[in-house]
Amino acid sequence: MLVEYYCSESLDRVNHPGMTEPLSYKYLFGPVPSRRLGRSLGVDLVPFKTCSTDCVFCQLGSVDHCTTTRREYVPLVDVLGELERWMAVDGRADYVTLSGSGEPTLHTGFGEVLRFVKRRSDMRSVLLTNSTLLHLPEVRRDAAEADIIKVSLSAWDQVSFEKVNRPHPELNFDRMVDGLRALRAEYCGTLWMETFIVPGLNAHPEEVRKMAAVAAGIQPDRIQLNTAVRPPAEEFVQAVPPEYLQKLAGFFTPPAEVIASFQPGEKAFTLLDETTLSRLIARHPATAEQLAHMTGHSEAAVQNLLAQLGEALSKSERNGEIYYKAAD
Ligand code: SF4
Repeated sequence: MLVEYYCSESLDRVNHPGMTEPLSYKYLFGPVPSRRLGRSLGVDLVPFKTCSTDCVFCQLGSVDHCTTTRREYVPLVDVLGELERWMAVDGRADYVTLSGSGEPTLHTGFGEVLRFVKRRSDMRSVLLTNSTLLHLPEVRRDAAEADIIKVSLSAWDQVSFEKVNRPHPELNFDRMVDGLRALRAEYCGTLWMETFIVPGLNAHPEEVRKMAAVAAGIQPDRIQLNTAVRPPAEEFVQAVPPEYLQKLAGFFTPPAEVIASFQPGEKAFTLLDETTLSRLIARHPATAEQLAHMTGHSEAAVQNLLAQLGEALSKSERNGEIYYKAAD
């Protein structure tokens, strides 16, 4: 009952904002527009670049803290306090998404965040996970609180897993797939799967057929193909042409959807200052044009703030466009 006790205490503190009132949103970002999810409010549960893998395609850059240790990386009570304040003050979103600076299931309180959203709002919840901790029954139990779980699978065996995802040494591909199958058997919600295609590592038709066979054993409701349209961790990672992705999509059951291109959606939020922009860029490297679409402000206003952020940013070119990301 330790969990019950802790959660009660958390909510009690949330209900007394004087104890925990955050000065600004440290753990929330957006809402950012999403083609599939409409307006999605992000919740970030781990410090920047804390993950159980170090994927070659990671848009955050190379992972600083590769770990499988689960703990309360950021104070749960502060995350719930920010959510409480956001719901009361800033309006609403269609979804609350656990994602951001690394792997959310590393945080031992991610299930409590999902339960809090369910109890306190009519927003639906999404968990984005790299699948690596789903062999743990307690992680599957908490993940099942989400309305949608989006898992990742971009390999077909341990060797390809190590090349594409560069997992923590303790992680094993077959055990991860067992966890994914167990999740499918236990979970009544919507299960999506994302497969990231990297030329030279997993893009050959035979390799994609092997991934499709593994995916078929997991039976996700929807499969999405992605490729490196944004600057990845490793320079050698190139994007696959959209026509090629479309061809690969037919290998999967159900046929995969191609989600690789940036699609600006509705304008998401109105507040725009240096802090908001830098936090957004830290989780979503983007061009000035994309940031203007995401925030609902003019490109000139975004460029002006980008100039003020100066050395806090780094730039990289991708397909002839300049992407802004957090400086290391
Ligand atoms: S892409 Fe996702 S799972 Fe892979 S290293 Fe980056 S944050 Fe972790």
